[in-house]
Amino acid sequence: GTAHAHLKVQGLSAGYGAFLVLRDLTLEVKPGLTVILGPNGAGKTTLLKALSGLIPRSGEVQLNGEALPKKTSDIVKGGMALVPEGRQLFPQMTVTENLELGGWLVAKAERARRLEQAFNDFPKLRERAQQLAGTMSGGEQQMVAVARAMMSAPRLLMLDEPSLGLAPRMVDELLAITRRIADAGTTVLMVEQNVKKALAVADRGYVLERGTLVASGPAALLTRSSVIREAYLGAG
Ligand code: ATP
Repeated sequence: GTAHAHLKVQGLSAGYGAFLVLRDLTLEVKPGLTVILGPNGAGKTTLLKALSGLIPRSGEVQLNGEALPKKTSDIVKGGMALVPEGRQLFPQMTVTENLELGGWLVAKAERARRLEQAFNDFPKLRERAQQLAGTMSGGEQQMVAVARAMMSAPRLLMLDEPSLGLAPRMVDELLAITRRIADAGTTVLMVEQNVKKALAVADRGYVLERGTLVASGPAALLTRSSVIREAYLGAG
């Protein structure tokens, strides 16, 4: 097996054209489950896009001591995968076809092995293997998106608001899945709006506001911190 992924981000800046969203961000994603919290527009999605190579970045990013490549395909080969906001499945393709696309970088035999593994990890998807992704419920589609990202066998999995728009029971199930993935040895970096539930499953967290970090620490401490309680949990 490979060493547990450990991401170090130092002085990261990123944005859109001349518009800088993230300024001089320094953070660490250690093995386990790290959650990024913060209000709308804080730059959470921008951070995941920058780490995935979808937008340019400046600053230093190291994955297990090695400089992170700039191109998305090289980043995926290096062991990082993203479950994007809104899932971005191919609705007219089956569950199986969507999953196979997540394994586009590996040879056919290995892809088949990983597909079997995905169906073992997500038994509900095996039952729906031939269903068109676009006809599934929101929660099921999110599960396909997570399973698709796992098809690249990442050492580090990034998820952008996996619980967005889901019913409370599905939110719990998705968060339990991310916890299981982290426990099985894949480092997880997750953006979540569901502060209370996210901190309940995470090991550590960062709070991002207007492109800068305003709080960080173990999830249990963040839950009790005044920054989080006042701004996000509706308590004084
Ligand atoms: P949300 O929870 O609403 O998704 P977020 O924390 O993920 O918020 P981002 O999506 O990273 O925030 O957006 C941060 C800032 O970047 C916002 O001011 C947003 O308007 C801007 N932004 C996002 N995408 C683009 C883009 N493609 N072009 C220009 N500006 C953008």
